[in-house]
Amino acid sequence: VATKLDAKPAGATLPSGQAVMDAYERYVIRTYGRIPLVFERGEGAYLWDSAGKRYLDFVSGGRAGTGLGHCHPAVVAALKEQLERVMFISNDFYHPWGAELGRLLSERSGGRKAFFCNSGAEASETAIKLARKWGHQNRGPNSHTIVTCERGFHGRTMGALSATAQTKFHQGFEPILSGFRYVPFNDIEALRAAVDDTVCAFFLEPVQGESGIYPADPTYLRQAADLCRERNILLMVDEVQTGFGRTGKYWAFEHYGVEPDVITTAKALAGGLPIGACLATPAAAVLQPGDHGCTFGGNPFSCAGAIAALKVLDDNGYVANAARVGERLLAGLRRHQKESRTVADVRGLGLMIGVELGVPEAKAVFDRCVEGGLVVNAVGDNILRLLPPVILTEAQADQALAIFIQALA
Ligand SMILES: *Cc1c(COP(=O)(O)O)cnc(C)c1O
Repeated sequence: VATKLDAKPAGATLPSGQAVMDAYERYVIRTYGRIPLVFERGEGAYLWDSAGKRYLDFVSGGRAGTGLGHCHPAVVAALKEQLERVMFISNDFYHPWGAELGRLLSERSGGRKAFFCNSGAEASETAIKLARKWGHQNRGPNSHTIVTCERGFHGRTMGALSATAQTKFHQGFEPILSGFRYVPFNDIEALRAAVDDTVCAFFLEPVQGESGIYPADPTYLRQAADLCRERNILLMVDEVQTGFGRTGKYWAFEHYGVEPDVITTAKALAGGLPIGACLATPAAAVLQPGDHGCTFGGNPFSCAGAIAALKVLDDNGYVANAARVGERLLAGLRRHQKESRTVADVRGLGLMIGVELGVPEAKAVFDRCVEGGLVVNAVGDNILRLLPPVILTEAQADQALAIFIQALA
């Protein structure tokens, strides 16, 4: 059956917002509770919808996917060049862009080695397989339990889902994989009690993102890292959301002075392209030829984007910018919290901020933000999550803060 979308001749203007939403309803499995906003263009910290209205993008394309804002010119230029050179070469061969991205990530992660994939979930899967093999090799045949934290999030594939200690995501998909043990976050005694001889790794987000921005307590992560060393188990940090400057440091774990064995990354790595990477110290990088693979993992196109994005991040001081502008946003929100009767908590690190309301009105606040030209993310009934790109200026932060505070009123 022909639709307006089918009928659209090449080069014509885009279909109406309503036609786009209708087509999704009809042709796309409804796995997401989508917000009725149709975006057509992005530039820097701004998005434009199908009616031409401009928004400050405080979700980085949604879920922190574009750390550098939309269409960073240096990333776009690198991608255009790469598209005309070569897009895909499989991991049966070598190519210069995988070599260069491996080198850049190694330099920026204290000499860790990379496995390239396409997403955060795949980075989690890689970490899980690596931890199990490392456990079997280094601790014994029964050492394959991975401890993860309640309220954490590691992705939607079966392994990553099993690592995600939130029953609401498991429901309907049981049985989840065995070999995972869940502990409350920020509770060192619970972790201590959970680590026995079957455990090979502890896997956590330094700042829990999807569940509403909960940073690890400084002492907790340090004590957890010490415990991992004492008990000879791997410390694995999920930096899929927190990496590449989001928290005001290159990696969130740097706030805590710990040295993880494994780092999973994705989201902002290539400035808005699908890519992921699992980074492991040479001692933890036990995967051998035939152990793991990913057809599009580390393809020349995504690598070229990531190489450009990592250079942009370094050359422009954007990590320091995220710290400075994030501090300004947090300070503004905390000032407002003192006067407000609706804000129960303001928490975060850098440009990863959660605002918890004392009332279940997150959706209403979200709607008013959108009206005012600001896109934020509502988590559950009472948390708003702010994840603006690291290129955000102080003026844009102030403007967003004004809209947000107005929306809270
Ligand atoms: C988003 C996210 C993932 C999953 O990444 P996908 O690319 O959606 O598979 C994993 N871990 C964390 C911490 C995330 O925020």
